[in-house]
Amino acid sequence: MAERVLIFDTTLRDGEQTPGVSFHLREKIEIAKTLETMGVDVIEAGFAASSKGDYRAISAVSEAVRNPVICSLARCVPSDIETAAQALEKAARKRIHVFIATSPIHMEKKLHMTPEEVLEATVKSVKLARNFCDDVEFSLEDATRTDREFLLRVTEAAIAAGAGTINLPDTVGYAAVSEYGQMFREVLEKVPGADKVILSAHCHNDLGLATATSLEAIRCGARQVECTINGLGERAGNAAMEEIVMGLRTRKNYYGCDTGVNSRQIYHASRMLANLTGVEPSPNKPVVGANAFQHQSGIHQHGVLNNRETYEIMKPEELGIPQQALALGKLSGKHALADRASQLGYTLAGEELNTAFTRFKELADRKKEITDRDVLAILREARVMQGTAYKLFAFQIFTGNKMTSTATVTLEKDGATFTRAACGDGPVEACFNAVDDISGLHCSLASYNIKAVTEGQDALGEVTVRVTCGEETMLGRGVSTDILEASCLAYLNAVNRILAHQAAERMQEVQA
Ligand code: MN
Repeated sequence: MAERVLIFDTTLRDGEQTPGVSFHLREKIEIAKTLETMGVDVIEAGFAASSKGDYRAISAVSEAVRNPVICSLARCVPSDIETAAQALEKAARKRIHVFIATSPIHMEKKLHMTPEEVLEATVKSVKLARNFCDDVEFSLEDATRTDREFLLRVTEAAIAAGAGTINLPDTVGYAAVSEYGQMFREVLEKVPGADKVILSAHCHNDLGLATATSLEAIRCGARQVECTINGLGERAGNAAMEEIVMGLRTRKNYYGCDTGVNSRQIYHASRMLANLTGVEPSPNKPVVGANAFQHQSGIHQHGVLNNRETYEIMKPEELGIPQQALALGKLSGKHALADRASQLGYTLAGEELNTAFTRFKELADRKKEITDRDVLAILREARVMQGTAYKLFAFQIFTGNKMTSTATVTLEKDGATFTRAACGDGPVEACFNAVDDISGLHCSLASYNIKAVTEGQDALGEVTVRVTCGEETMLGRGVSTDILEASCLAYLNAVNRILAHQAAERMQEVQA
């Protein structure tokens, strides 16, 4: 029997620290439900004291998700721990995750605390957290750059104070693989009570070693790993859940460990996160990259055709990667679209399904075969078209090489239309300025990207923008056969999201 390794997913906390990524409440709940379906053991839903948004997300996830343990991060500060406990109130199973940095550089330069003060804060905070919650995890931030004797002392104190899980993170992705494992062995050997708690690994990918260090920690006694879908996370990211799950499963005989994750949900979850964040895994990303199961060389192709195992150590169907994708066309029904959407990581229902289906039919009139990429483009658009948002009714743009570009844009909202004309450096800016005049927001464009999503004459152009308004940066997408229309739709999409977010904030304030 393989020993069980707990999967602690931090996509919603560390994953959301991916540059440019922020999730809406609705998206967080959707992600958490997917994690529950996958069979994840612990969901770190946020850092309750860090923002109202995190607090709300933890509390909403606590209500919506019943099987996994729901966790909130907290500093060794009484108010942080109390806030975490409040946010988790409705959870069926809850955990408070207390952390403090223990490395000399973090203690001196960041915390301005002596090692003795850090030790004292550890004990006090773990005890306080235990008053609220039986399940307390304690993290020694920057453990891999911490003096080893001190690490052993703090670990011992945290266990004695009542922590049931001790996490030794490689916060900055600094550790060498065998060195990281050795730290776990030493803790197990030298710290009284270490064999009675769960030791946890939390690795970052700054040197491309996050999966390797996580697996080595498991080999050396860790029984929980902290990870994210697609390896999302600050800087080079966190250890990728799909790599760890498949690493253990593919080499079960070697590691003697397995997780409770249903690998057939991996592809769906990976697509979902790529869709929600706009961060596409690189094509050569292990397990979920577009090329992960492509065979180019003749010898390899020949081998795979004879027997897939010649060059494949995992089966794509084990990951839920759709085989022999059903070609969608003019005659496909709503159900077929919803099915395909689900394989691509979208749960479509109600109004959203209707919007997507209308758009699908329009496209099917113009294109014989609708590819997955077409479907994805439609879905992304449908996701944001619904609700009482501004819709593009009409636009007209004048542009040229020796004139100022001008755009006249008409938007529709709740049955009313609004028309404004504006100038700009180029047709795209002119169009965005006209939209700003209507929305009344003062936005700036943080990034603009355009790509063709399909081949041929009738190719769809997809524009992705990041729009900053005050503190907030939102992703927007637009798809059209006309690139200026795609640009305008993308910008409008981001503006609608900003407005929706502001409205939600106001609602919250009224209720509070
Ligand atoms: Mn981290």
